[in-house]
Amino acid sequence: MKVLILGGTREARQLADIASGERGFEIVSSLAGRVREPVLPAGAVRIGGFGGTEGLRNWLADNAIDAVVDATHPFAGTISSHAAEAARAGGVPIVHLRRPGWSEQPGDRWSRVPDLASAAGAAAEFDRVFLTIGRQGVAAFAGLDEPWFLIRAIDPPTGPVPPHHLLLLARGPFTVAQEVDLLREHRISAMVTKDSGGDLTAAKLTAARTCGIPVVVVDRPPVPEGGECAESVAAAWEWLTAL
Ligand code: NAP
Repeated sequence: MKVLILGGTREARQLADIASGERGFEIVSSLAGRVREPVLPAGAVRIGGFGGTEGLRNWLADNAIDAVVDATHPFAGTISSHAAEAARAGGVPIVHLRRPGWSEQPGDRWSRVPDLASAAGAAAEFDRVFLTIGRQGVAAFAGLDEPWFLIRAIDPPTGPVPPHHLLLLARGPFTVAQEVDLLREHRISAMVTKDSGGDLTAAKLTAARTCGIPVVVVDRPPVPEGGECAESVAAAWEWLTAL
């Protein structure tokens, strides 16, 4: 069975690890090519866009793909909906692997917003904001000239950035102690994050709770209609083996 794993996440790498060691499975992982030095999954890897829904549909047919696991990041909504459409058009089964989102704990001071534009509106109320949303969404905050931003990302943002900022290039995971130190060192008054879910990047939320700092949490785009969903690598693997 030939499987395309749409990746760029830890879960995608874990699934590629499991499946590429199993007899009867041939795995190809796909990365968008956004990160300069990506952590590569086990097995075959292709890098770069497919050329929209049509391009992906053709790629599935040309490569005789039997199943697709959309294990992209919960905020990579475009590729997920392309994948859902392309798979449906080509009659290829697809599952969307989505780790559960985060939930507010006692002591948290969260406000949930539907998108990055609303997050920028909320951030304008604070003076020293820790922006931990990855580099791609930073442009939404570029028009804010009052707050100072600590922008943390793996690679530098390529689009516009807010005028008052410090760019911190770093790749997690980070410990709670490291995150608390960072918040204190930069006298952060609010944090902006996406609801990525998972434990890999959750230490910043614990740190914000510890320091009593408000957090603006951007909600996820919806999972495309029609495809099945799996909340864990184990559930996605079960789906594949059942096929
Ligand atoms: P996106 O907005 O949903 O996708 C934009 C375009 O990038 C897609 O239309 C597709 O181009 C290409 N693309 C995206 N993921 C791809 C993949 N796995 N393989 C091949 N092409 C892909 O995606 P994004 O938010 O820019 O994220 C890009 C990648 O980074 C994803 O794979 C995601 O898992 C990973 N990532 C994203 C985030 C985040 O916060 N968004 C965080 C961590 C990791 P074509 O239309 O040409 O096919």
